[in-house]
Amino acid sequence: MAQQLKDRFQRQFYYLRLSVTDVCNFKCQYCLPDGYHPNGRRSFLTLAEIERVVAAFAACGTNKIRLTGGEPSMRRDFTDIIAATASHPDIDIVATTTNGYRLKDNAQAWRDAGLSRINVSIDSLDPRQFALITGQDRFRSVMEGIDAAFTAGFDKVKVNTVLLKSLNSHEIGGFLEWIRTRPIQLRFIELMQTGEMDKFFQRYHQSGQAIKQQLIEQGWQLRERSENDGPAQVFYHPDYLGEIGLILPYESGFCLSCNRLRISALGKLHLCLFGEGGIDLRDLLQQDAQQAQLIAQIQSSLQQKAQTHYLHEGNTGATPHLASIGG
Ligand code: SAM
Ligand code: SF4
Repeated sequence: MAQQLKDRFQRQFYYLRLSVTDVCNFKCQYCLPDGYHPNGRRSFLTLAEIERVVAAFAACGTNKIRLTGGEPSMRRDFTDIIAATASHPDIDIVATTTNGYRLKDNAQAWRDAGLSRINVSIDSLDPRQFALITGQDRFRSVMEGIDAAFTAGFDKVKVNTVLLKSLNSHEIGGFLEWIRTRPIQLRFIELMQTGEMDKFFQRYHQSGQAIKQQLIEQGWQLRERSENDGPAQVFYHPDYLGEIGLILPYESGFCLSCNRLRISALGKLHLCLFGEGGIDLRDLLQQDAQQAQLIAQIQSSLQQKAQTHYLHEGNTGATPHLASIGG
């Protein structure tokens, strides 16, 4: 291993979130309320470029890669991307985050290609509310996708739910009931303010602190974190097969355990979801012979990583919405 990825604050980075496209077919109100609009001619990373990104990060100790987007499954070669990532000998975990649109028909192929973990975004268990939030009347199909994932051999599925005041905040009890008998880790994510979000944040942001308190009062216990875990605080309860994860980006200390870096679908290295424009690596992804230069660039860029985001101060950085950088 060439060198570990370590920043000035002694944080080590084992986990890469790799966006493979900005395109999405949903219109989630908090992300792409008007749908995806191509911004000029965009050429997303090719399979060969993706392989070079994977090789460079793996050489620096990365062992987990999440394929994200936009909607990653919008890529026709998504199964090949999974296979290429999973075939690297030093990558132990290949995960994806999907809106579930293509899950039902592809869960088995993705599993067979080497996908080890899957997160599906579901913001409501009420089909009408689901359609209202996402702009897609696909609730049943997404739920069938989760069944298909279990059938394909995933022993656990994670579900991401963005907490939204009055849009789904009244559904917490229903969500808990849903995971009583299912091996699902349900992750409530606090809404994060992004650059293009206008009044939406003020209107719908719901703190997760009250839910945390409620879980503790109901006997849920906090699980200990391990090296590769994301930022979720995970709670378990003896009466439930499922778990609850809380992602509370506004809680103090959220950035202390940051262990992830991001590459956008256009080949930029993003040191933080809420940082500035990103460091363009595309020129260094054109030939295998550039690997040493690519690694040196990643290593030196990492030294600019800030200690924390400034979301608390309303500073969202240059990220217009999470689909643009791989949320
Ligand atoms: N399209 C895929 C999906 O929705 O699962 C992957 C990309 S999406 C940007 C990744 C995750 O970010 C989703 O779970 C989504 O709900 C979440 N997300 C998007 N915008 C967000 C925001 N402003 N605050 C909190 N979570 C957000
Ligand atoms: Fe698309 Fe995911 Fe953004 Fe929803 S959250 S609009 S599914 S990229």
